[in-house]
Amino acid sequence: MPTIETEEHRSLRQAVSALGKRHGRAYDREQLWSEAAKLGYLGVNLPEAYGGGGGGIAELSIVLEELGAAGAPLLMMIVSPAICGTVIARFGTESQKRDWLPALADGTRTMAFGITEPDAGSNSHRISTTARRDGADWLLTGRKVFVSGVDIADATLVVGRTEDSRTGRLKPCLFIVPRDAPGFGRRHIEMELNAQEKQFELTLDDVRLPAEALVGDEDAGLLQLFAGLNPERIMTAAFAIGMGRYALSQAITYAKDRTVWNTPIGAHQAIAHPLAQAHIDLELARLMMQKAAYLYDEGDDVAAGEAANMAKYAAGEACVKAVDQAVHTLGGNGLTREFGIASLITAARVARIAPVSREMILNYVSHQTLGLPKSY
Ligand SMILES: Cc1cc2nc3c(=O)[nH]c(=O)nc-3n(C[C@H](O)[C@H](O)[C@H](O)COP(=O)(O)OP(=O)(O)OC[C@H]3O[C@@H](n4cnc5c(N)ncnc54)[C@H](O)[C@@H]3O)c2cc1C
Repeated sequence: MPTIETEEHRSLRQAVSALGKRHGRAYDREQLWSEAAKLGYLGVNLPEAYGGGGGGIAELSIVLEELGAAGAPLLMMIVSPAICGTVIARFGTESQKRDWLPALADGTRTMAFGITEPDAGSNSHRISTTARRDGADWLLTGRKVFVSGVDIADATLVVGRTEDSRTGRLKPCLFIVPRDAPGFGRRHIEMELNAQEKQFELTLDDVRLPAEALVGDEDAGLLQLFAGLNPERIMTAAFAIGMGRYALSQAITYAKDRTVWNTPIGAHQAIAHPLAQAHIDLELARLMMQKAAYLYDEGDDVAAGEAANMAKYAAGEACVKAVDQAVHTLGGNGLTREFGIASLITAARVARIAPVSREMILNYVSHQTLGLPKSY
């Protein structure tokens, strides 16, 4: 694994950063989405044969990190090209690939992803959204919660389980559910987040889907699901690192200028050192993210799983600390609407909770890496 970023990756970073800065914090999500797509950034990880850039999650994570660092993150990148695009590219039928991948890459269509359920939460083994056969069709019934961007997505990739595997270990199966499918309802959840994407509670009431809606094998087990969840974790790390960098850059600019004694506040070590620490933590998190992306793109799903969890953990923590320190650095202005930093406090917490919480990653590392016994 290269420890220094390649020339190609550096140029991609610079180009995306320039795009992000042109849009800035007051970005229009839709406009940026279509511009990024036209420049080939949204589908950079998707296969060339289906309109993508032929790269991997390493490249896609650079795109999201740089947009975030410019204050213009595109949350749906975590879902549409990273989870849904990857799963379809790896396990979809030829017609699903032709139908979806070019459209996800050129930004004309978007796909949301729904796994979280109100009664299962962090314990995905408890999900109860159930698919049963009806002739050649499937009928899908269940509830999902906190699913992002369902209103702007043409379809949602819903994780369910087949009827005969309702109990015991999860055998997930994935269905493409069009936004307007009869029986597919959504309720907007009001969040205390200053984000352009909304979250929804979903109800699936005997949603009739053709056989072609099933992505991959109904018996493939967790492998197919994690093919999408590992990119999701890596991309959430990119989202968090981008946001942390954005907050830090605002704080640095402010600290260089603001003078209340006879030197700028950035000269006081009580202000400078925590900013330096935040920078180091973000850099370290990025290294782990790059390792995870490298392993994933090399096809080592197992090693990528561990690294993706660690990267998401490190990035979430680094982001929360960077945002907290940025707000503090701005003093009263840290809480004004004009400077727009305080609203990042709740946004930063998302990376600690979703798509898998800090505690569940610590559980994973305790059990899988360290071999410690489980409490649950
Ligand atoms: C902004 C946002 C966007 C989201 N977008 C999506 C989306 O697009 N699609 C989707 O499917 N989901 C989405 N989610 C849902 C997200 O993945 C879940 O919120 C997350 O997985 C946690 O589940 P929960 O909220 O049910 O928390 P719970 O599982 O109820 O956990 C609550 C708390 O208990 C802790 N906890 C639980 N079990 C244990 C344990 N065994 N040991 C120690 N601590 C434990 C958790 O760490 C957490 O702190 C989104 C969430 C947010 C906030």
